[in-house]
Amino acid sequence: MIPDVKSFTLEELQAQLAAWGQPSFRAAQVAEWLYLHRAANWDAMSNLPKALRERLRENFSLTALELVTVQGAVDTTQKFLWRLADHALVESVLIPANPALYGEASDRHTLCVSTQVGCAYGCKFCASGLDGWKRNLTAGEIVDQVLAVERWHASAKAKLTTPSAGVEAPAATLGPASDTRFVNNLVIMGMGEPLANYEALLKALKILNAPWGGAIGARRITVSTSGLAPQIRRLADEPWQFRLAISLHGATDATREKIMPVNRKYPLKELMAACEYYQAKKGRMITFEYILIAGVNAGLDQVKPLAELAHRLNAKVNLIPYNRVEELTWERPSEAEQEAFLGALEQEGVIATLRREKGHEIDAACGQLRLKKERELASGPA
Ligand code: SAH
Ligand code: SF4
Repeated sequence: MIPDVKSFTLEELQAQLAAWGQPSFRAAQVAEWLYLHRAANWDAMSNLPKALRERLRENFSLTALELVTVQGAVDTTQKFLWRLADHALVESVLIPANPALYGEASDRHTLCVSTQVGCAYGCKFCASGLDGWKRNLTAGEIVDQVLAVERWHASAKAKLTTPSAGVEAPAATLGPASDTRFVNNLVIMGMGEPLANYEALLKALKILNAPWGGAIGARRITVSTSGLAPQIRRLADEPWQFRLAISLHGATDATREKIMPVNRKYPLKELMAACEYYQAKKGRMITFEYILIAGVNAGLDQVKPLAELAHRLNAKVNLIPYNRVEELTWERPSEAEQEAFLGALEQEGVIATLRREKGHEIDAACGQLRLKKERELASGPA
């Protein structure tokens, strides 16, 4: 298989091009085409000699994700379903940080990206793991989710500003400077367990963080994990200041184990020790994600142990009402119960938020679009 060019750092490209006898500025030109102009094919790279383009084409693949569907309205949360080269499906979710409540343009955008096709961890409430794990994404496929969303945004914008409706919009030009980057926050909370695809994840984050690449600051990148303790320690030892989110969803082993099989392998004691290690190395950067599921973990008996864990790590708690998954029977608790849980947590002195906004149902329920499409493909005519 030809390797994907977006799985290589600038240094690696430089080494390859130097081996071909190319001047040293060529690799930077390639990176500029890839990450600044989001080029989707070699022919677009007009300032590279044709012979070099041919050589690149022979040695690297340059694929672009194919958009299957996009769900959601402009300036709200939008969910993208992508088809990869081998026809596997993954999702990304775009979340505007400042929804355009008064008609102004939303300037900051957070993209939630996937790291695997499916997931092996089988949390009982999650759509991503329902059909098990298919494969890891390559670094290039992780990086590509950002570029593909930016390409999509640029062409959607160009269409909006094209005066005569129905006329094909001109190829979109994309802003050069990193501060005009459309996606400027990343959360690694899509399909899959990021820390179970460690090498590709780190490579992708390196590329997305680099000034010659995505130029997204490390503190604007949050990695979410179901709690792989050894990999949390490994990430702590890396030089980057990524933020860490722990999908806790239960404050005692008994509760957590009911819904997250991973807790048997890495029980809370071990997980918290790894988080403490991360925090000691990186400072105060840990968030607990806590989905509220009726009759499972939303009882007030979880508040005290949750507060204890949060205090121990100085962690903030994000409470998220459960999003229904079609094939599962779990439900979110009533709004009154959600508020009571939040209130009790705040009483304990914990900094906590509760997602209340309507219309955010598609946010955290990554994996559902893909699942639906897979079911359609399986049952529909060939
Ligand atoms: N595997 C990683 C990252 C992907 S899951 C992890 O588990 O952290 C991203 C987040 O979405 C997790 O906090 C997960 O628990 C949450 N999630 C999954 N299904 C959900 C649902 N139906 N409703 C609300 N949140 C959900
Ligand atoms: Fe996998 Fe995260 Fe879903 Fe658990 S919550 S099944 S770890 S994607």
